[in-house]
Formats: sequence, structure tokens, C-alpha cells
Amino acid sequence: MTRDPRDPRDLAPAVFLDKDGTLIEDLPYNVDPARIRLAPGVRAGLPALHAAGYLLVVATNQSGVARGYFTERDLAAIRDHLEAMCAAMGAPLAGFHWCPHLPPPEGINEYAVECDCRKPEPGLILRAAEEHAIDLGRSWFVGDAWMDVAAGRRAGCRTVMVGPEWETAADLQPEVRPDFAVPDLAAAAGIILHEDGRAPGPDGPPGPDARPAPTRARSSGRGPHRTGVPA
Ligand SMILES: [Mg+2]
Ligand SMILES: [Zn+2]
Repeated sequence: MTRDPRDPRDLAPAVFLDKDGTLIEDLPYNVDPARIRLAPGVRAGLPALHAAGYLLVVATNQSGVARGYFTERDLAAIRDHLEAMCAAMGAPLAGFHWCPHLPPPEGINEYAVECDCRKPEPGLILRAAEEHAIDLGRSWFVGDAWMDVAAGRRAGCRTVMVGPEWETAADLQPEVRPDFAVPDLAAAAGIILHEDGRAPGPDGPPGPDARPAPTRARSSGRGPHRTGVPA
């Protein structure tokens, strides 16, 4: 069956993915494809999401362009490399979108502007949804920082936080607190498939890839004090 993206009734669900610290290990401002390493859980989680019918779309802040550290041509090479890696593992990317902007004084060139696409703004996601005929209400954003959660939520997606901060996600302020927080993308895929009724949950029959029960991010009552880091 072929999807017709021009048909408004034929919108697809997507899983939007942050790049650094979510899809690949975070090497700040790296644009050398040879140094790219997949983040933990990606080899298990990404093919499972693709197989379940989600479009996989990367949405990433790349202020290194506005800072003058690298160019959009460098980013295109990274995109091509990541697309090949994901396709090779059975999880082809449907889209790869970046925000190259950052206002002055850190931004120093023609990309040094206020924009609506730098996360936590939702513009990158909204444009990707338009381009790929995505149903945002049936979609998810997975990221490792509060900006990812904020952007995903403003776009109307459900959100999962992965990475080192997952354990303290419950302490985030409500507007940037993820719906779920888990260690890595394999666990995030488990949550998404379970929530959408596409797989047995943590209490269901254990499969060969059974993992520890996920944690739903909740307020601990200790008050908000996590702010995350700019990308
Ligand atoms: Mg990140
Ligand atoms: Zn932007």
C-alpha cells in the first residue's frame, strides 16, 4: 500500500529524533563523519520504530553554523552519513532537518538571527510535518534535553527524554517535563510502541529484548532546578 502525502486523510505518525546525545553520541560541534558513533539503544530501537510504521525524522539545533564553526555543506555530509547508517540498520530516515541559527553575539554571520526553528521553538517540527505529511497528534519527539521536550510539546507531540538526565526529568518544570523518561532509544521505542498499542508493555510477556520497566516522569515535589544545556 502506498501512502499519498497529498491526501489529508493519509497523514503518517512520526518519531522525531534529536541528533546529538539521542541518535548519536554527543561530540559538540563535530562535523567529521568518521567520528560519529550511534548512541546506546539506537540499533535496537530505531528499526523497531520503523517496522511499526513511524516515519523517522531528525530535528536538530546546529548553531555551529551561525557561530562560524562549520557550514551547511559540512552538515549535509553528516546528514548523508547518518542516512546511510540508519538505512543500513533497517531504519531509513524520512527526513533530516536542522536549525543553523543563533542570534548575536554568539552568532556572527548571516545565520545570526532570531528564528522560529531553533528548539525549544517548534518551527522545525512544524515544517517537517508539512513536508512529510505527518500527523503531529499521533507523533512523538525523543530527545535528551529540555529544549527537545518543549519543542515537541509545542508542536503537539508526546515526548520522551533519553540520556543521562532521564533520571532527574521528573524535577523539570511542567512545560519542559517529558511524558516519559528512560535511559536510551531502545527503551524509548518500547514506551512508544506500548503506548500506541503496538507491543506488549513492561508487564506483558518478556521477549528476547525485554528491558527494565520504564519510568514515567513525575514531579518529585523537590521543585524545578534543571535547565539543560544549549546545543
Ligand atoms: Mg541533544
Ligand atoms: Zn532556526
